[in-house]
Amino acid sequence: ILYNQVQDLKGTIRVYCRVRPFLPGQANQHSTVDYIGENGNIMIGRRVFSFNKVYGTNVTQGEIYMDTQPLIRSVLDGFNVCIFAYGQTGSGKTYTMSGPDLMSEDTWGVNYRALNDLFQISNARLDMIKYEVGVQMIEIYNEQVRDLLVSDGSNRRLDIRNNSQLSGLNVPDASWVPVTCTQDVLHLMNIGHSNRAIGATALNERSSRSHSVLIVHALGKDLVSGSTIRGRLHLVDLAGSERVDKSEAVGDRLKEAQHINKSLSALGDVISALAQKSAHIPYRNSKLTQLLQDSLGGQAKTLMFVHINSEVDALGETISTLKFAERVA
Ligand code: ADP
Ligand code: MG
Repeated sequence: ILYNQVQDLKGTIRVYCRVRPFLPGQANQHSTVDYIGENGNIMIGRRVFSFNKVYGTNVTQGEIYMDTQPLIRSVLDGFNVCIFAYGQTGSGKTYTMSGPDLMSEDTWGVNYRALNDLFQISNARLDMIKYEVGVQMIEIYNEQVRDLLVSDGSNRRLDIRNNSQLSGLNVPDASWVPVTCTQDVLHLMNIGHSNRAIGATALNERSSRSHSVLIVHALGKDLVSGSTIRGRLHLVDLAGSERVDKSEAVGDRLKEAQHINKSLSALGDVISALAQKSAHIPYRNSKLTQLLQDSLGGQAKTLMFVHINSEVDALGETISTLKFAERVA
């Protein structure tokens, strides 16, 4: 039944734009958003951009999830799904994906709601299909892949091997942890978040400079026919998309900026090549696109949340974010 509901999304790329509300203390600022239309249009700086949906500042986390849910559910029917959060630092990527506070269910982001849903559906299907759900959590920083679920703080570089046909794990050496309930997930996310914070300083927050990827594997065994169903969900909180002034950045900061630039443009190139049904899809140009190679394109479903903040000072970045998003839409 679920299969039919989501069939129309197969192989498509959707782009949802979310406008971050002003933060406390910014209440009376001028907003650069002129107008948000009903049909996925947004006008900024007298230019109109079109997406599948645009969410204004009043949208709730629950409403966002409602529009995401069909894709999530299709993972249990054997589809590969990728969900990205794109935008400059401070635009709300982590808010959308994780939420502001792990402990507050009301404001949970897509990650927790998605896993919760997968558990509920797999429980409801118990008589027909037995599912196993497991997660990995990795970070890509300076084109190196690290395991965020290690408990010993080891900092090993991991390899990407596209062997989805065999084990379904493209980073087979990253910890793979079976999960059966939301508590398991919360526990792991806490470990992941604290590992991600290692190396962060006030001026150079690591979480803005790396991509974090929560990989959910669902393996179902049909109890009647004995056949297996394998689906994967990648939930990606991307590094901040802001351009760094080359004259100001030096040393490590410049290197980070170059790696981020390269991987975000590689991602844009892959998604726009897919959107145009191009014969050659340039997956090899970054670790991120290599990792996602067999989850982008083909039967897979892709959703990009692009985040903007409507502060006047952010206008330049906002326009470049919207242009990026328009190219992949
Ligand atoms: P990013 O991950 O893109 O750097 P964050 O998600 O950390 O940005 O958001 C920056 C700040 O704005 C945080 O304090 C966050 O709680 C707040 N924020 C982001 N989006 C929203 C939203 N939709 N509603 C309320 N506060 C938000
Ligand atoms: Mg963030």
